[in-house]
Formats: sequence, C-alpha cells, structure tokens
Amino acid sequence: MQPSLLTLDFDGVLCNGLKEYFQTAKQAYQQIWPSDHDLAQYAESFYRLRPIVEHGWEMPLIIRAMLLDHTQEQILTNWPNLVQTLLKQENIQPTTIIQQIDRARDVQIAEDFPKWLSLQEFYPGVIEKLRQIQEQGLPIYIITTKEGRFARKLLERADIFLPAGHIIGKEVKQPKAQTLLDLSKSTGITFEKIWFVEDRLETLQLVQKQEQLKGIGLFLADWGYNLAKSRQEAQNDQQINLLSLEQFQASFGEWPNKDVRFSQTSS
Ligand SMILES: [Mg+2]
Repeated sequence: MQPSLLTLDFDGVLCNGLKEYFQTAKQAYQQIWPSDHDLAQYAESFYRLRPIVEHGWEMPLIIRAMLLDHTQEQILTNWPNLVQTLLKQENIQPTTIIQQIDRARDVQIAEDFPKWLSLQEFYPGVIEKLRQIQEQGLPIYIITTKEGRFARKLLERADIFLPAGHIIGKEVKQPKAQTLLDLSKSTGITFEKIWFVEDRLETLQLVQKQEQLKGIGLFLADWGYNLAKSRQEAQNDQQINLLSLEQFQASFGEWPNKDVRFSQTSS
C-alpha cells in the first residue's frame, strides 16, 4: 500500500517549534504582565502543556496559570474552563494577547531572522525521509496553519525545495479538510490514494467527518503536540492510524493502515 500523494502538517509533524513558541509566549507575557520573574524555569512544563493549546493566544496564559500556582495537572485537565477564568480574572481579551504575540514574532523576525528560524528544528530523520519521497517522485504537499513562506524558508534551509503551490499555509484561510478536497480535485487523485499526516487529533476528526473525503488515509503523528488521551483515541479509532516517527521513516508498506481494512469491510 502506497499513497499517490502525501500531505503533511508542518508544526508537530516535520518541525518542532516548541522553543519558538516558548520564546514568543514569554515575550508576549512580559509585555502584558511585566515582572522580574525568571520565566525560563517554566520552559519544560510549557513544552509538556503545549498540546492543550487550541489557539496561539492561549500560550502566554499557560505561563500565567503556572505563575499563579495552578498545577500542571489542573492545567491539563481543566484548561478550557481555566482559560475563561483567567481571561476574566486578568480582565484581558484574546485580541490583546494576539497583538502581543504577533508583535513578539515581528520583533524577533526583524531583529534576527536566522536566530528566529533556528528556534524551529526538524524532528530527527524527517528531512531524509522527505528527500527519499522526492526521489521516488511522489508529490508532497504541506498543509499548515503557519505562514507558508516561513515553512518554505525552513525547508529550504534544509535543502528541501518544493514546487510552487505545494506549501499551503495559513494565508489560504480555509480548513484543512477543504484544502484536501481542493487537492484531490486539482490533481485528479482519489482519496484512497491521498494520505494525510497531522499531529492534532481534532483536525483529523474534522477531515473524517467529511463524507466527501471518505477513504482518505489519516495518520496521527505520535511525536507531535498531542496528549496520551488523543493517542489512545486514535489507537481505538476505526480509521485513524497512530503513526510513530520510526514508522514515518520506514517505507510506506510498514505504515499502519487501518483504512484499508476499513474500506474493505465497509464497502
Ligand atoms: Mg501540527
């Protein structure tokens, strides 16, 4: 079993952006809540908690929660409620936090672009795998909520060059499911031959819900930003495959593929 088209999320699948997230969240935090606190001590906890983030603006709030002595367990298990409590308590709007995050990124990019890029590292072996896939002539598309030009820049620094239109970033302003539909249309490749690797279970579930995308190969990258709970859910799912970094690096025949069994039993 082999795809005819491979679609990949960027952050949490190819690229580990945790250092950049923390750096940016920290700088935004300091603008909103200036203090002499050494925030560096919160880095490791922040990395562990990052999977709970649904919107980027929640990142400085994670640091706020830790500084207000909420335990990791409380943050992990009760985040959606805690976010609302914190917003109210601190009398702050998400839009204000978004502005500070954008500003923190703009400043880093303007002051030292190479340094900002270097905070985002590729996971071990993924660049080699991309090169291998390219040599096989299999088309790769990156579907990311990052700005496409940044994803391209990072890949090119690692000597991976993708054709124009193969990196679909946040500038398209549409759900990933729609992008997958568009890709199938524009390439003429059927969904059974399209595989999609993503580290956010909710995103895979949205794709799964689309009747039109039935049969697409869905893979949850277990090395990305997701919690054990999501990995377990993927494991138990009828269609979604839990993929390890080791399997990702192996030949496609060695990837788990429930979807084959799924489409055989359901058709
Ligand atoms: Mg991701």
